[in-house]
Amino acid sequence: MAEIENVIIVGSGPAGYTAALYTSRANLSPLLIEGWQWGGLLQQTTEVENYPGFRDGIQGPELMQTMRDQAERFGTRFITDLATKLELSDQPGGVHRVWVGEQEYQARTVILAMGAEHKKIGAPGEDELSGRGVSYCATCDAAFFVDKETIIVGGGDSAMEEAIFLAKFASKVTIVNRRSEFRASKIMLDRARGTENIEWATPFTVESFEAGENGALESATLLNAETGEQQILPTQGAFIAIGHEPQSQIAAGMVEIDDEGYVITEGRSTRTKLPGVFAAGDLVDHTYRQAITAAALGCQAALDAEWYLRDTPEIETPAGVAGDDLASEQYGSTQA
Ligand code: NAP
Repeated sequence: MAEIENVIIVGSGPAGYTAALYTSRANLSPLLIEGWQWGGLLQQTTEVENYPGFRDGIQGPELMQTMRDQAERFGTRFITDLATKLELSDQPGGVHRVWVGEQEYQARTVILAMGAEHKKIGAPGEDELSGRGVSYCATCDAAFFVDKETIIVGGGDSAMEEAIFLAKFASKVTIVNRRSEFRASKIMLDRARGTENIEWATPFTVESFEAGENGALESATLLNAETGEQQILPTQGAFIAIGHEPQSQIAAGMVEIDDEGYVITEGRSTRTKLPGVFAAGDLVDHTYRQAITAAALGCQAALDAEWYLRDTPEIETPAGVAGDDLASEQYGSTQA
């Protein structure tokens, strides 16, 4: 029988590492299952200028390494692998079970912090040309597209931000949005409109991506959503910025999940409907999705777990497992 841990944390973005920092400083010796590509979406960014404490900014990967090191300093233990299955108890004081492949771990509390992945369009050619012109991160890949013609797909703040950044490198950036109205805030939209080499294609969807003879992206076929007109737009770089998908699959059928896949927590706490199971970060947050807000939720989850352990009498056996169909999918890494 495996030793029963105080806390298992699943996921390794700012929420997971902050939860680990707080629970390790509370002497709870947390076990963090961090995935193969630990560090979450910030591993893919370059300069982070809006995380307080770094006056001159910090590179995303360096920020994540520092968070990990800080959690390790206070006794966090890491498993650099994917959690593959959960069985979460619905009994107060019950034991939760987490698998990494064949290996089972047990804990009194579990903090879910699996983050979110970039959404895909699902167009033919998208997967095949990913890394050969199709990308989900302009801040990571824009430098490969100096003087190239590019597109950004999406009409939210992310699309505007990515387009403005990309426009510093590419000769042309065409923003392709499926509606003529934009979800983006006025300030971001105005900035994009004021950028000389940004052009607009609305209301267009991307039907497919095509490769040239060298196997790299050469064009995108667009469809006008109102007239049905098709256009082939030459492009060497296509950046998809249509939002994110929370990585909640592994907890499906146990904790409550909303229509968009976000884990539902109670009020302003990080408590899920299951005693001893908490959720934090981009997994629960549709609105703010910032590194600092994810870190704050990770801190809240750690405190919620600590208080739960203090106040809840233990029961010995893993009884009363939640959900009829226990999910057994791998949780994807928090990177695309
Ligand atoms: P978002 O606001 O949800 O926008 C997603 C965009 O992608 C929308 O234009 C949406 O179109 C489009 N879209 C969704 N699915 C699509 C599909 N299958 N095919 C084509 N287009 C599709 O997501 P976001 O831009 O990532 O922003 C998320 C949150 O972060 C927002 O609250 C935003 O304000 C915030 N944020 C802020 C900043 C900033 O202030 N600097 C930067 C980035 C993000 P529809 O409108 O038709 O649904």
